[in-house]
Amino acid sequence: MLQGKTALVTGSTSGIGLGIARALAAQGANVVFNGFGDSTEIEAVQNRVRSEFGVQAAYHNADMSKPAEIEAMMAYAAERFGAVDILVNNAGIQHVASVEDFPVERWDAIIAINLSSAFHTTRLALPAMKARNWGRIINVASVHGLVGSAQKSAYVAAKHGVVGFTKVTALENAGTGITCNAICPGWVLTPLVQKQVDARASERGLSNEEAKRSLLSEKQPSGEFVTPEQLGELAVFFCSPAASQVRGVAWNMDGGWAAQ
Ligand code: NAD
Repeated sequence: MLQGKTALVTGSTSGIGLGIARALAAQGANVVFNGFGDSTEIEAVQNRVRSEFGVQAAYHNADMSKPAEIEAMMAYAAERFGAVDILVNNAGIQHVASVEDFPVERWDAIIAINLSSAFHTTRLALPAMKARNWGRIINVASVHGLVGSAQKSAYVAAKHGVVGFTKVTALENAGTGITCNAICPGWVLTPLVQKQVDARASERGLSNEEAKRSLLSEKQPSGEFVTPEQLGELAVFFCSPAASQVRGVAWNMDGGWAAQ
């Protein structure tokens, strides 16, 4: 379905971004990976999509907190593949603390990586999408783009911002072939969440399994984690012709979290 298209997925060396990048590659899209990690592992990730799906893969190490590096990444993608047809703004970090104890540097980093980077990639991707009158912008927000949780002020503020930015981008392009939508996952067992599981296990003297169950039972009625593969399939749907009139939505896949 996506042969000949190019997808750029920020923060795709791990977790949800990797799941989405692989799902788009499985549909034939070439992929530009981004994110941090071990260079051998990043090379292996690219080689896997090349051999499993017969697509081209590339990687840029831009730090999403740095607008100049984001510009360099977008220029690299355009030079390598012509243009970015599918932009997935996924890179994100978390920090857990009460408002009065929240480190100012962590606040600034979360707003830059989880929110402002989507503005920078989007503003740079739109001209080529407009020239082709086709584009898909998918913002990985969170259920925390829809509801709040204590101790996560910067994250919740950034993710609500992403949902707002998604709506405006969708509206400004509503008369074109470019759609913009947000995905709002509940708990997904990635390194970002494993850190929170580990913290809970050590604070409460729980095993890893007990800490996972305890985390899920507080917020996610299904009692099960959402998977990166499931989120990848939702991203594929947003890229399909059937979704061409899905515009500006914040679509949760959260085991029932936001239904409560
Ligand atoms: P993860 O830690 O597994 O992956 C994060 C990715 O972002 C990695 O590739 C990492 O290298 C990259 N990254 C981090 N800082 C970066 C920076 N400054 N520049 C470039 N890349 C950077 O986390 P994840 O759980 O897969 O999270 C992906 C997205 O999904 C985030 O936006 C997160 O907020 C969101 N999300 C996660 C969950 C969850 O339960 N895991 C739930 C809702 C939303």
